[in-house]
Amino acid sequence: MAGIYSSTMEEKLDQLKDLLHPSHDLSQAAALLAWDQETYMPPGGAAARAEQLATLSRLSHELFTADEVGVLLDDLAPYEADLDEGSDTASLIRVTRREYQRARRVPAELVAEIAHATSLAQQAWVKARQESDFPAFQPYLEKNVDLRVQWASCFDVAPGGHSYDPLLDVYEPGMTTEQAQAVFQALRPALVDLTAQIADRQDAVDDSFLHLPYGETAQWDFSLEMARGLGYDFERGRQDKSAHPFTTSFSIDDVRITSRIDPEFPSSCWFATIHETGHALYEQGIDKALARTPLASGSSMGVHESQSRLYENIVARGKPFWTFYYPQAQDRFPSQLGNVPLDDFHKAINKSQPSLIRVEADEVTYGLHIILRFELEQAMIDGAVRIADLPELWNTRMQGYLGLTPPDDAQGVLQDVHWSAALIGYFPTYLLGSVLAVQFYEQAQADLPSLDESFAQGDFGPLLEWLREHVHRHGCKFTLPELTDRICGGPLAIEPYVRYLRTKFGDIYGL
Ligand code: ZN
Repeated sequence: MAGIYSSTMEEKLDQLKDLLHPSHDLSQAAALLAWDQETYMPPGGAAARAEQLATLSRLSHELFTADEVGVLLDDLAPYEADLDEGSDTASLIRVTRREYQRARRVPAELVAEIAHATSLAQQAWVKARQESDFPAFQPYLEKNVDLRVQWASCFDVAPGGHSYDPLLDVYEPGMTTEQAQAVFQALRPALVDLTAQIADRQDAVDDSFLHLPYGETAQWDFSLEMARGLGYDFERGRQDKSAHPFTTSFSIDDVRITSRIDPEFPSSCWFATIHETGHALYEQGIDKALARTPLASGSSMGVHESQSRLYENIVARGKPFWTFYYPQAQDRFPSQLGNVPLDDFHKAINKSQPSLIRVEADEVTYGLHIILRFELEQAMIDGAVRIADLPELWNTRMQGYLGLTPPDDAQGVLQDVHWSAALIGYFPTYLLGSVLAVQFYEQAQADLPSLDESFAQGDFGPLLEWLREHVHRHGCKFTLPELTDRICGGPLAIEPYVRYLRTKFGDIYGL
């Protein structure tokens, strides 16, 4: 009679998938509308688009959180227990249950209140940032923080845990505040030290030839060439322009990126494209068996960022990559680069200097921008800082970590969109991803010792195949800690990252 038992379970599994598919389809359709909003939509379309996005998101959420989904997940629990943890089916049940329980915990009224408050807060933030007027934004931020505290209180925190845990868990499932704290606390002195050493050697790198007019079409075409070379499949993707570069996926076979152009600084376009290419390669590489389910996306924000940073910084700011691409760059931009040696170009694209703005920060100083935000977010959530005192605290920490004090709040506490959107818990994933990128890459190098040689010949296939096998194809079956353990045989480690930064920047700055 075992056959009857299992066919019943298979029927239930099919029923579960039948319920999940429309919810997934609606959220992918919403993603297309959001992509259009950032790329081609005329400004007049904004109000109607906001309604359409809200409707699709609500319907998708309602389908996903239906009682029937919960009943099926419960029914399937014994079946799941008999399966291999890493199998498609067990992973589908496990990940769906995690997301289902999270979505069901928060009362719909609170979700709606957050959506409403953040929409007002974002408008207020745009104006406050323009006018560098923190007091004008303060009541909105107080409201957002209060709502996020309420949101976090819908979840149980483990004994000894932090009230910030449920917020971090949204973007980095399976990672606690304490774990992230341990990583960042160990990292901070190394970053502060390296930043200070580089600050004393600023004359060692000249990047003046990057700050010249570069033809916009030529910049764009070269960015496409490099994305194609790295393996981005344009039969299943495309690149468009947007103010803030991003990657979005409508299915495994339609993954799009955006980039931007600074007419007098081509690094902006090229490295944004390559960063987004790293995200897109991940989404294009997910096993098609996972399509139309909650598994058909990257694992977490940190794992996603590990892929973009790996391509942007380790591959494309490395010398082997430019051994292949620099002659092409010189052909395309003879008046700007014709007389610049490869070594000088390589140093210039890695120029490191303390700066006020996170999104413009280099590899060495970037982490300090994140650590500062991570610390302030915890203080906001557990009430250790009054929101009114935030600008002063920000400025003191900036001085301590980067040796700079913002001249105004627009270049300080008001610079990022995240807090206006109540995205608290998101920032740490940027740095976790940077750390993870190097740890993964060291493992790839151990498995494939001639990666540098293949890059120098323009062959990026072996690296992509390795990432496909170990990371991409799994979609979001595994959390960051699970994936790190499977690939590297241990937890997230900072040593490879610190070693990488010291070696690379020690070389460039002659430290
Ligand atoms: Zn990214």
